[in-house]
Amino acid sequence: MAATSSISLKTFTGLRQNTAEKPHFAAPRTHRPVTQKFQVLAAKTSPKLTNRNLRVAVIGGGPAGGSAAESLAKGGVETFLIERKLDNCKPCGGAIPLCMVGEFDLPLDIIDRRVTKMKMISPSNVAVDIGQTLKPHEYIGMVRREVLDAYLRERAAENGATVINGLFLKMDMPQDKNAPYRLHFTEYDGKKGGVGEKRTLEVDAVIGADGANSRVAKSIGAGDYDYAIAFQERIKIPDDKMVYYENLAEMYVGDDVSPDFYGWVFPKCDHVAVGTGTVTHKGDIKKFQLATRKRAKDKIMGGKIIRVEAHPIPEHPRPKRLSGRVALVGDAAGYVTKCSGEGIYFAAKSGRMCAEAIIEGSEQGKRMVEESDLRKYLEKWDKTYWPTYKVLDVLQKVFYRSNPAREAFVEMCADEYVQKMTFDSYLYKTVVPGNPLDDLKLAVNTIGSLVRANALRKEMQKL
Ligand SMILES: Cc1cc2nc3c(=O)[nH]c(=O)nc-3n(C[C@H](O)[C@H](O)[C@H](O)COP(=O)(O)OP(=O)(O)OC[C@H]3O[C@@H](n4cnc5c(N)ncnc54)[C@H](O)[C@@H]3O)c2cc1C
Repeated sequence: MAATSSISLKTFTGLRQNTAEKPHFAAPRTHRPVTQKFQVLAAKTSPKLTNRNLRVAVIGGGPAGGSAAESLAKGGVETFLIERKLDNCKPCGGAIPLCMVGEFDLPLDIIDRRVTKMKMISPSNVAVDIGQTLKPHEYIGMVRREVLDAYLRERAAENGATVINGLFLKMDMPQDKNAPYRLHFTEYDGKKGGVGEKRTLEVDAVIGADGANSRVAKSIGAGDYDYAIAFQERIKIPDDKMVYYENLAEMYVGDDVSPDFYGWVFPKCDHVAVGTGTVTHKGDIKKFQLATRKRAKDKIMGGKIIRVEAHPIPEHPRPKRLSGRVALVGDAAGYVTKCSGEGIYFAAKSGRMCAEAIIEGSEQGKRMVEESDLRKYLEKWDKTYWPTYKVLDVLQKVFYRSNPAREAFVEMCADEYVQKMTFDSYLYKTVVPGNPLDDLKLAVNTIGSLVRANALRKEMQKL
């Protein structure tokens, strides 16, 4: 019991928005290059570059790569962004937190839906409405990835990055300290089509933003991570049914939809995305998908499947995320939160953070960088986000382990304080202590729910 109570307290403290911080609103679209200023703390040993600026290649043009390339280009670095498919439609639910809209200056017209209501649905189909604590301007954004990714890449290009439609193949490592990395890739000509042409490119540093199956990670021997397989169907449902999902998303929990994750119905521009995921029972993913569809049956009846997609979701960071002047960001590094499977914001944020470390280390592109410059990004990342990852890890272990525990979880979601903390932590990604009295009340309620869940499980085991 003591262990349970300490877990629940750790789980629910420190996940509240810092109310002193202003809410983020989307700013108007501006594309003016901004020269970033970085403080130089100590004399650098790396050589000054003459007649050219630092050259950095970003491999992969998803949210991690697009935002890394934009920051690098703005910061005085000669930037190459290599993306194999410029109209890539990444399999994804497309849910983004409000703070991403403000922090990344996203125009509101790329956000298909603003979700203000969320239904959490238990194994026995008890539905709890969460989102009642949202303020009028708060919402979860729903985007189509082909739209978001293209927008971020275009903005990188407008700020000076060279976008190459190419498939990165491998890289030759530098032979001495300041020698370049030689990248091999196939370049495609969108107009001519065909198999593409083999090319090489020499750069001083590389950012691997090439997703879960990262070739950059393989090139530096970054090691593997456990992963979930996520499956999703885009379903065009009749207009009258779409009204229900206008600004509402659903999350289903239960052994039927996933033994270790959740099933979802997320609204998109003119259809819904229905999906689920699992780490432990990948072979059964289609069975779980069928169960998710079955649970949402009444609301999606008459729908037509317009797209089926599946993709790995990393479970934790890779053993190594940096080697020499090569760093991994986003899914390539393994930055998806457990429990929620959220990775878009963390991808964009890590891309930007890594770029900023390079800009600072190179004194805005004027010097060569060293491994220690790129390492600053990892240190900052771990310091900022480690607590968030840990909390969600514990939450998943406690509440996703059995149907009775999931019933308890959904029951707890009815609590306004839980809702406020969950939404605040999701929307703003700010980790500060909660209200001690409310935390205590919540801990007691949590323990009560878990005790009931355990009692229920024991009864069920007897049957
Ligand atoms: C089904 C599903 C649902 C999800 N739902 C959500 C959600 O609702 N909200 C959320 O926040 N997260 C969600 N995620 C997670 C989210 O999709 C990822 O965390 C996010 O896309 C990571 O961004 P990234 O830029 O690191 O990698 P990616 O988005 O995977 O981008 C990698 C890019 O690199 C390119 N690339 C790959 N290899 C090469 C190569 N060799 N050469 C050139 N280019 C290359 C790819 O074409 C791609 O454009 C979901 C994931 C799945 C699978």
